[in-house]
Amino acid sequence: MAPRLKLLIASANRGKVSEYRTLLDGLDLELLSVQDAGITGEVEETGSTYEENARLKAVTCAMQSGLLTLADDSGLEVDALYGEPGVRSARYAGENATDQERVAYLLKRLEGVPEERRGARFVCVIAIATREGNVTFCHGECSGSIVFEPRGDRGFGYDPAFLLPGLGITMAELPPEEKNRLSHRGRAAAAAREVLREFVDADTPR
Ligand code: IMP
Repeated sequence: MAPRLKLLIASANRGKVSEYRTLLDGLDLELLSVQDAGITGEVEETGSTYEENARLKAVTCAMQSGLLTLADDSGLEVDALYGEPGVRSARYAGENATDQERVAYLLKRLEGVPEERRGARFVCVIAIATREGNVTFCHGECSGSIVFEPRGDRGFGYDPAFLLPGLGITMAELPPEEKNRLSHRGRAAAAAREVLREFVDADTPR
């Protein structure tokens, strides 16, 4: 049997890598983590857009590993904060802050902001890079609002602070398969599946 096409998931975030394992399930691909590929050290996110950061991570890791590579950049955009924290979501409360500290900081920044002005969205941009450095982008968004008190213990990051419209529960209260269906990453990954299917087809001997 021909060896399966390998896809490197270029993220040090275990929450994300495990979401991608589920999101890309069923494709005839062997998924590798950066640890599996022996890549040490993180690519610095020096870009000012999700696209730039996703491209930077995907291309750098594809070059280092010689593998087809998927990287994403994502963030939370809050209307009352003029789109902050956006591309700075991971570093919003300082470099070494925990998820809980980030959520607490966000809620503090929104103190006194009424419910109708707490609109927000999660955004995800996926970059798929070949080892030659060619890149394809896929986008996904999920709209909601920011709660007054965090709720739920699933997911990661700002999930406990993000209320889903119509459902009345936070992203951290959703079962993982539901998060994957509704989330910004789930939507971007649905588009990425189509791109990756073409790579698998091109790699399959006829
Ligand atoms: P990056 O895409 O690794 O730069 O990280 C973006 C940051 O945005 C994460 O560290 C989280 O704080 C936040 N974020 C991105 N996606 C999610 C999500 O699905 N749930 C909660 N927070 C998220």
